[in-house]
Amino acid sequence: MNPMNKETALVVFSGGQDSTTCLFWALKHFQKVVALTFIYGQKHVLEVGMARKIAEKAGEVARKNGLNCGGGNVDWYQMDVSFISQLSHNSLTDSSIVMDQDKPADGPPNTFVPGRNLFFISVAAVFARERGINHLVTGVSQTDYSGYPDCRDAFIKALNVSLNLGMDEQFVIHTPLMWIDKAQTWAKADRLGVLDLVRHETLTCYNGVPGDGCGECPACKLRRTGLEEFLDSLTHTPSSTCEEREKFSQRRIQTLKS
Ligand code: ZN
Repeated sequence: MNPMNKETALVVFSGGQDSTTCLFWALKHFQKVVALTFIYGQKHVLEVGMARKIAEKAGEVARKNGLNCGGGNVDWYQMDVSFISQLSHNSLTDSSIVMDQDKPADGPPNTFVPGRNLFFISVAAVFARERGINHLVTGVSQTDYSGYPDCRDAFIKALNVSLNLGMDEQFVIHTPLMWIDKAQTWAKADRLGVLDLVRHETLTCYNGVPGDGCGECPACKLRRTGLEEFLDSLTHTPSSTCEEREKFSQRRIQTLKS
């Protein structure tokens, strides 16, 4: 294989809030960024097109924000792993299953796609290896993990070790959102100058509605609660000046109106 390129990162990129924030995080920290979007039999394949559009403009947006470390554009790829939808019954790939609105006491909600992150990150690692890339970035978070065991830190670390052993490589899986909640993820997007882009151009909703989404599904509720908490935090920062608070307050009103 090619010698490892320590300056390139591959982002597992769905086009949702979390992975889009990670895409811009990667643009800030790596000279070159590659994004890989998976088609896994999801009901709302619209998200693949949205991911492509974000990836196409991400380099330019980050340059404008002065946060594009390498100055280049994102190389975007899609990969069909739709066999995943044939392996298990879950409400993200099977329209006949009524989506759980809450996490059941005895296990993950039926929006959990077993093996999804295992397959995504494993495929991403092979894809990266072919291109001499050893840095992988994923937007999983243990803090707001919704009962999905494959978003937890122990799993990611174990998978990192397995991939390194299985391919005799030195992959590093970066998880910028692992220990932060949704409000802090919005704050991160804001610091990267992409709060509005993430809010309006990503798709997190389980019902396939872009931006603020359907407002009803668990993903929308989590996203919305986090956004409101973040916007509230702007107006209650003790150290901020009156002028700053006024500015934040106006911005909050505008954001909630839009
Ligand atoms: Zn929704």
